[in-house]
Amino acid sequence: MSEPLNISESRPAVFLDRDGTLIEDAGIISSPDQIVLFNDTIETLLSLQKQFLLFVITNQGAAASGLISCKQIAEVNEALSRELNAEGIIIEEWYVCPHDRADNCDCIKPNSYFVLEAAEKYNLDLQRSYMIGDHPHDVLTGEAEGVFGLYLLTGHGLRHINEVPLDKPVFHTLAAAAEWIIQHPDPRKTLQEAIRDGAQALKDGKLVAFPTETVYGLGADALNETAAAGIFIAKKRPLNDPLIVHVHNLEQLEQLTSSIPESAVKLIDAFWPGPLTLVLPKSPAVPDIVTAGGSTVAVRMPQHPLALELLRQAGTPIAAPSANVFGKTSPTTAKHVAEQLSGRYEVLIDGGACRVGVESTVLTLVGEKPVILRPGGITKEEIEQVIGSVADRGELSENHMASPGLLPSHYAPSTPLVVTDTPLKFCNDEHIAIIVLQPSEEIFRGSVFALSPDGDLRSAAAMLYQTLRLVDGMHFTMIVAERFPDKGIGVAANDRMTRAAAKK
Ligand code: AMP
Ligand code: MG
Repeated sequence: MSEPLNISESRPAVFLDRDGTLIEDAGIISSPDQIVLFNDTIETLLSLQKQFLLFVITNQGAAASGLISCKQIAEVNEALSRELNAEGIIIEEWYVCPHDRADNCDCIKPNSYFVLEAAEKYNLDLQRSYMIGDHPHDVLTGEAEGVFGLYLLTGHGLRHINEVPLDKPVFHTLAAAAEWIIQHPDPRKTLQEAIRDGAQALKDGKLVAFPTETVYGLGADALNETAAAGIFIAKKRPLNDPLIVHVHNLEQLEQLTSSIPESAVKLIDAFWPGPLTLVLPKSPAVPDIVTAGGSTVAVRMPQHPLALELLRQAGTPIAAPSANVFGKTSPTTAKHVAEQLSGRYEVLIDGGACRVGVESTVLTLVGEKPVILRPGGITKEEIEQVIGSVADRGELSENHMASPGLLPSHYAPSTPLVVTDTPLKFCNDEHIAIIVLQPSEEIFRGSVFALSPDGDLRSAAAMLYQTLRLVDGMHFTMIVAERFPDKGIGVAANDRMTRAAAKK
C-alpha cells in the first residue's frame, strides 16, 4: 500500500526586515511618500515567492519614544503592501515590533513571538526558512527558532558590518541574498556538503574557491606541487609571484617554516586568526612552486569560519591567492569568482560577501627589520603596538625583497581609473563614474557611487572592489575614485587603487 499524501507538509518562509531590506533605510519613515523601493526588490520577491512564503518583521523602535505612531507605521506598511501587491507579490503578514530594542520585548526576544506565530499559523518549516535583516537583533530573532539568518547591509546598514557575527553570510543587495537562499535550500546541510566536497577535492589535488574575511581564495593543497601549479595555470599567474599558505593551527605553521621568531609569536597571538600574513624562512616541506623558488614562505591563519572548517577537514595547509584572473580586481563575492574563473575549480564555497574586502597585510620578519610588503586588513599602527616600529616597503631600496603581488599595475578594472582627492570636479560629465567615500549633499546623480553611508573607512574598504566591479560593468568611459585618508585601512585601499589605476 502506498503512503498517503501528506497534505499538511510544512513550507519554508523568508522573513524580511523592512527598512534597508525592501526599502531604503531613511531613518524614521512616517509617511508613505518616504518609501523608496530598492531597484531589485520587486524582481527578487517575485522569484523568492515561487518557493517561499514571505513575511515582513519590522522593528520600529521610534514608536517607543513617541517619534512615530503605530498608525503611521501601519499606513506605511499598507502603502508598501499595495505597491507590492500591484506587482503580484504577497506578503502573508506584516509584523511590527514597536518597542525599543533595549527593552527585550517578547516580539524580539528571547523566543520570537512573531516567528512562532507565523510558524504555527502557516505550518512553516523553520529549519528551511530564512531571516534577512541588517541588525543582529533582527536576525537573531529568527535564529532562536532555527531560522537561518542572513545579513543584508545596504546603505546605512553597512554601519553594522563590524557587529555581524563572523559565521553569518553578509550580502549587499537583496538579489544576492535571494540567490544564495535559492542555492542553499537546506542551508546548514548545503554548506556542510560544500565544505566536505571542497576538503575532498583538495585532498585529491584539485582546486577549491572559498571565502575568507579578506577576499575569495583559489586554494590547493600547499604541500602538493602539482596541485599548487594548477593555481598558476587557472589564474594565469606568473610563476614568480609566490602564494600565501593558509593554516588551521600552529603545528601546520611549524611544518611550513624553519624558524619562528619571537616577534611572530607576539603577532600571531594578537592577530591570528585574521588578515595578517607573515613571511618567514621556509622549511623543505614547502614545494618551491609555492614560494616562487624563494627561501621564505608567506603564512596566515584566516578568520572566516568556513575557511577554517575547510582547512580542518582538508587536514593540510592550503596555498591560496585571490580567486581572480591575475591582475584583475579581486573577488569579494562568490559571483565574482564564478564570473572570472568558472570551470577552473572543482568546488566553489559561497559564504556571501567578504567582510574586510581588501587582501591581508603582508609583513616580512626575515631580515633586519620587519617590513610591510603590502598594506592590508591589519594596519601598520596595530602591528607597531605589538612589536614596535616596522618599515614600509617604500623605505627599502628598489631591489630589496621582491614581493611580486606588488607589481605597479594590479587589481585593475577594464575601465580606466583615476584616483584623486577631488572627485566631484568630474561630476559634470555623465560618461564618468565617480566613486566617493560617502554621499555628498550637493551632488546626487546616478553616476556617483558612495562606498559608505558615513565615510567609515572599514565599511568603505569592504565595498571598494565590489563597487569597482559594479561600475566597471556599466560602460562608463572612465572611473574617478576618491583617495582614502592615508590612515588605518585607508593605506591599503589607496595602495590597491593606485595600482588599479596604474598603466599596464
Ligand atoms: P595574493 O595571494 O594574490 O594576495 O598575493 C600574495 C602576495 O603575497 C604575493 O603577491 C606577494 O606579494 C606576497 N608574498 C607571498 N609569498 C611571499 C614571500 N615568500 N615573500 C614575500 N612576499 C610574498
Ligand atoms: Mg591577488
